[in-house]
Amino acid sequence: MAEPVVLYAVDGHVATITMNRPEVANAQDTALIDGIDAALDTADADDDVRVVILAGNGKHFSAGHDLKALVGDAEPDQWRLMRDTPEGKFRHEQVMYYDRCRRIYSFRKPTVAAVQGACVAGGLMLACMCDLIVAADDATFQNPVLRMTGAGVELLVEPWELGIRKAKEFLWTGEKLDAQEAWRLGLVNRVVPRDELTERVNELAARVALVPPATAQLTKDSLNHTATLMGKEASWKYHFMAHHWMHNTETATSALKARQEKSSMSEVFAEHRD
Ligand code: ZN
Repeated sequence: MAEPVVLYAVDGHVATITMNRPEVANAQDTALIDGIDAALDTADADDDVRVVILAGNGKHFSAGHDLKALVGDAEPDQWRLMRDTPEGKFRHEQVMYYDRCRRIYSFRKPTVAAVQGACVAGGLMLACMCDLIVAADDATFQNPVLRMTGAGVELLVEPWELGIRKAKEFLWTGEKLDAQEAWRLGLVNRVVPRDELTERVNELAARVALVPPATAQLTKDSLNHTATLMGKEASWKYHFMAHHWMHNTETATSALKARQEKSSMSEVFAEHRD
């Protein structure tokens, strides 16, 4: 049997959900997104679990959504088939990207992302859904989709993480932030040596798990509510609509057609793979 694409383990009061597609830099396909969601169900139902870690197996945290599964030669799944119409594309991204990410963001127990290597586009969006982010010193953060016509990814996390001026630069240039710069800008909580990432994230999660669960969960809810009052979720909603308007423009559809004619997106993420 093939290895599961998402691993789940509990140690003490801490559950770890690990993306396990290292051969494609944990590119997020349907199975991986469903796997994270199912693991969250398990973590939510287990009263012994107080904190959840989200990690990626291998050299990279996540190269983003699996574009190869969406436009490449792979057998199309139900979601890809839906993307032939604007309505279907909207439904796919609403259910699989927008709602699934917001589920992680609103997950009642505290979450910690453990990020190493490339954390790109949909991978960055995923990491930013977690309450805390610990970066390995080799981590890089990037959202290069604008030059591929994308109006960012589905949830506009950048202004909340970097501030609006830096977010503009980050998105328009597509340049990478290294771990130290990400820390300086407040995108990540801590930077640790790559070979200590797992240990240090476990230590941090175990420390958070000392807070009584009801206290931790209410504090999280109140902090997220503060962000809601600042407009975070309303701005996400607006951006999601803008993102979809862009998807359906001639600018985007002609670029997608050109990529499909080249029959493979592999060159796009080649630099993130071994
Ligand atoms: Zn999209």
